[in-house]
Amino acid sequence: MSNFESLGLSEQLLESVKKEGYTVPTPVQEQAIPLLLKGRDVLGVAQTGTGKTAAFALPVLQIMAREKIQGRRNIRTLVLTPTRELAAQINERFAAYSGNLSIYHQVIFGGVSQKPQVKSLRRGIDILVATPGRLLDLIDQGFVDLGSVEFFVLDEADRMLDMGFIRDIRKVLKLLPKKRQNLLFSATMPSSIADLASSFLNDAVMIDLSPEEITVERIDQSVMFVQKQDKINLIIDIVNENQIKRGIIFTRTKHGANRLVKRLDRSGIESAAIHGNKSQGARTRALASFKNGEIPLLVATDIASRGIDIEGVTHVFNYDLPNEPESYVHRIGRTARAGKSGVAYAFCDESESGYLVGIQRLIGKQIPQFTDHPYHFPKAIPKPNQKPGKIKEPKNKNKNKTPQSEQNSGQRNNNRNKGTRNRRNRRHKKSD
Ligand code: AMP
Repeated sequence: MSNFESLGLSEQLLESVKKEGYTVPTPVQEQAIPLLLKGRDVLGVAQTGTGKTAAFALPVLQIMAREKIQGRRNIRTLVLTPTRELAAQINERFAAYSGNLSIYHQVIFGGVSQKPQVKSLRRGIDILVATPGRLLDLIDQGFVDLGSVEFFVLDEADRMLDMGFIRDIRKVLKLLPKKRQNLLFSATMPSSIADLASSFLNDAVMIDLSPEEITVERIDQSVMFVQKQDKINLIIDIVNENQIKRGIIFTRTKHGANRLVKRLDRSGIESAAIHGNKSQGARTRALASFKNGEIPLLVATDIASRGIDIEGVTHVFNYDLPNEPESYVHRIGRTARAGKSGVAYAFCDESESGYLVGIQRLIGKQIPQFTDHPYHFPKAIPKPNQKPGKIKEPKNKNKNKTPQSEQNSGQRNNNRNKGTRNRRNRRHKKSD
């Protein structure tokens, strides 16, 4: 097992790592840090929770600190990431690791006023962490110049594509100088990502820490079969019995998340919802009170929760099974982070058994069934030879055309199905 000292990090950064309490590098750090310090491009198949932020932030900071900048700062590192939460989190990590290095970093994302962002861009910064929509807006308005970028990080590339950001990414790539170092991280590697990677990475080294391997190992997963209307009682029982202090509950829809918060509240269980209909302020407040332990449960939809990094999450509930099997892997990855273990429950009603089949196919194993509970509903168990994901969504009373998706401002969904299709293709290829 290696240690941080052997990775080639400077004294200052070793100090930061120590301050954060990291003793052993995670596999992605062990592999990526030396390569990035040598100036190589890296293609990392790794999801959030593997320590990938430090894997790029530490070498980036070290490389940038080599050059002492006099006068106004220009953006030398650009990190592009799909969601506001993830952007804020990466920026926080830069703050934690940069310590007393004189390197200025800034985050920009949509949904909040651009004024403070513009103000700090005007002062000059070294590292910019951004979501694509706001970045392009500010470029159009002349507040951002990417002409000095030496280091480009594309984070959560698969989710970027799912959210329809491919055109934005290509626009950004055109604005970057030819000579630069690149890093692309993605939780999965469908052919669309492989194509994108080969279009801009230069002789990249691939690091593969596929999420399937990560999740199956350390997370204690179980599935419970239950009727839709009993899910609420089942969750209340589990939360009360286990006295859960830090759990995330996933629902498929925004309305479902709101409804669940209300029903939990009626049973005296505190929780808060985060989803795309909530204002940035409300999302930040909900996350903060969850992080500092004021509320024990966060109710989230997939996109809103994407990449959220909260330490010590002990339980993840799939209150609704996701209709995209990959989301299951992302969801349960919110627990068992950085070496810890965690528990993941999946509630499966009769309309969701096809989703369960799809999930089990993706992770390559049967999720253990837990039937010894008062709401057990055997009819929801998938039939032998049932096809994955074939069962229809229950009819949604909402007249909205795409009620299941998150129509976040600045986040486009039009390519979502395409991305999923690509990943499916990849799975077929893999199992061929
Ligand atoms: P990330 O995958 O970058 O979102 O990191 C997930 C979590 O792991 C964050 O809370 C980090 O602070 C933490 N972390 C990163 N590297 C290490 C390490 N080497 N040892 C312990 N925790 C770490």
